[in-house]
This record gives sequence, C-alpha cells and structure tokens, in this order.
Amino acid sequence: MLVGVWFGQWASKRRCDESNPQEAALPLPTVPAQLLDGKACATEVEASLLERVNALKSNGIQPHLAVIIVGDDPASHVYVNSKVNMCERLGIRSTHIELPANTAEETVRQHVAELNLQDDLDGILIQSPLPNHMDEEAMTDLIHPSKDVDGFHPQNLGRLVQGRRDGLLPCTPSGVMRMLDWAGIDLKGKRAVVLGRSRIVGMPAALLLASRGADATVTVAHSKTEDLPSVCAEADVLVAAVGSPEMVQASWVKPGAVVVDVGINRVDDASRERGWRLAGDVSPEVEQVASWLSPVPGGVGPMTIAMLMENTVRSAELRHGGGTE
Ligand code: NAP
Repeated sequence: MLVGVWFGQWASKRRCDESNPQEAALPLPTVPAQLLDGKACATEVEASLLERVNALKSNGIQPHLAVIIVGDDPASHVYVNSKVNMCERLGIRSTHIELPANTAEETVRQHVAELNLQDDLDGILIQSPLPNHMDEEAMTDLIHPSKDVDGFHPQNLGRLVQGRRDGLLPCTPSGVMRMLDWAGIDLKGKRAVVLGRSRIVGMPAALLLASRGADATVTVAHSKTEDLPSVCAEADVLVAAVGSPEMVQASWVKPGAVVVDVGINRVDDASRERGWRLAGDVSPEVEQVASWLSPVPGGVGPMTIAMLMENTVRSAELRHGGGTE
C-alpha cells in the first residue's frame, strides 16, 4: 500500500470546490481533498463501452435495455431519462415502458415475464421506487438473473457473497469500487467503514470492499450502531450510504481518509430558483479533512449509470458472444 495515496499524493487531480464558507472554523490548516470525480471516471467507462458496443454491432448484435417505470415520481423520471440518453449515446437500444401509479402488480409481472422471454433483450430494470402497493423485492426476483442489470436478483447477490465474478454486480457499489480504482486508491489492508446496510448499496459495497483483490477490512455501521462518530473515525475509507443530508461531520473523519458520498438527498434551498438543492450524506466541511472526497452531484451518481450500461453490454456479450471482453 502506498501510504502517500491517503494523503493526497496525486496533485495533478482536480480539487474540490475551495470556496467552502466553513473553512475558517476548522481546526486543521489542511489541503482540501482531491476530487473523486465520478463524472470523469464515467466518461472513461463510456469510451470503453462504445468500443464494446461497436464490436457487438459488427457481429449483428445491438445491446438492448428495457426500463419499466411505474407512477409519476419526478426524480425517477429524471433518472430514467438520463439512462435512456446514455443508451442513445452508446448505441444501446432502449425500450421505455411507462405505467400509471395505479397499475396492478400483476401487470408489471406480465411485462417482466414477456421481457424475460424476448431474445433480443439483454437487460431489464424496474425503476425504484415502485408505488406502495407493490413489493419491490418480489418484482426484482422475477427478472431473469442473466438480464438483471441492476444486480439485485438473489442469484447475482448470492454470487457476490460467494466471491464469484460471473454474475452482474449491483451498479452503485460497483461504481464506487471502479471510481476508487480509477483514482489509484489501494484498499489492501485498509480499514473501511460502510455507513448503511441496504440490500442495494451498503451490504454489496461492504462485500466488494472485503472481496479478494480489494482486501479491505470492513465494518458495516447502521442505525443501531453505538457511537457512530468513533466508528467512522477509524476508517481509512468511509462510504456513506444513509440517506441523511450532510450527516457525516468533519470531526467523524480521520485526517487523510478517503470519503465516498453515496447519498442523494433533496434539501430546501430558498436561494435556488427551484427551491431545493441536492445534498449528499457528508458535510461539505469534510473536504478539509479527507484526502479524497466524491462530490454530490457528480460523484457516485454518474458511476451508477455507467455501471448499468456496462452490465447491459456485458449481458449482451455473455448472452450472444461476439464482444471484446
Ligand atoms: P436505505 O435503504 O434507506 O438504507 C439506509 C441505511 O442507512 C440503512 O442501513 C439504515 O440503517 C442506515 N441509517 C439510516 N439512518 C441512519 C443513522 N441516523 N445512523 C446510522 N445509520 C443510519 O438507503 P439506500 O437505498 O442504501 O440509499 C442510501 C443513500 O444513497 C440515499 O441517499 C440514496 O438516495 C442514495 N443512493 C444513491 C445512489 C447513487 O447512484 N448515487 C444510488 C442508490 C442510493 P438500518 O438498516 O438500521 O435502518
């Protein structure tokens, strides 16, 4: 492990916004954290995917993703649109199935069953959240594991637990890992703390950090964890996935730690025309303590979409052959 890595060895990387108004109040005369730039990393992933899509197309195969969205949650529609746009940029075919909020669960089940049988379709995604009358986990279980590009099917999560790499990995945790790798951050033997234990982010992130090859020593913290600040302060790498705006304080972070902010929270902001802004789970002051920090937006978000595209391309390669991987 290169110790210098933790203390900002790569001066050539871009820095986080240095205009933090809290700066003066902080105790340490520190250098602001380097930016874990998910947008830049996602752009590189996109370039490599374009080559893989072209290789598939030269063999007569066009990767194809279907997205099912139920209801009119505005944020979900924004997410789906960015997924569809990225498909277009990469030459991936997309099918967008929009259903009203009062759709019966059985109708969604029928759509999934039909999409499972469609041979020219490589990925199925059900946009979260589903309306309250639907069982989201049960819907995920219906997707054929080979088309489960979200990586949430028990078979794919089970493979992850077994340390296997032949399944489809959940997009947000694999995006976090790709971003750390892109920044050259060596995790071997490091103490990692994952704040949050959800099925889609926290638990798979912990498994990936602890997996052979990554080799971090991992603690999973959650709402019942005692003395959360002390637990977080042990981390060389802290991954925050709680859904609580700016909860992680600078005093919780070990100086020089790498901090990945997975949170996406809408908070009121009267200074913005739209009346709100996006906030992560990490306070902006952490920038003065960490060696690396992922921004919100522009950190884990773009990586999640990039990993969804990669899963779709990988599924097409595995199902039809003819790729470059
Ligand atoms: P989730 O299912 O609600 O899980 C949140 C986790 O945080 C739970 O394990 C919960 O503990 C824990 N937690 C909640 N409040 C806590 C507290 N005060 N102290 C300690 N632990 C606490 O959320 P999620 O789906 O994992 O998402 C987490 C965040 O990531 C959200 O902001 C979400 O919007 C964001 N997200 C971002 C992306 C992206 O692409 N950037 C993708 C997915 C999610 P318990 O288990 O004990 O309840």
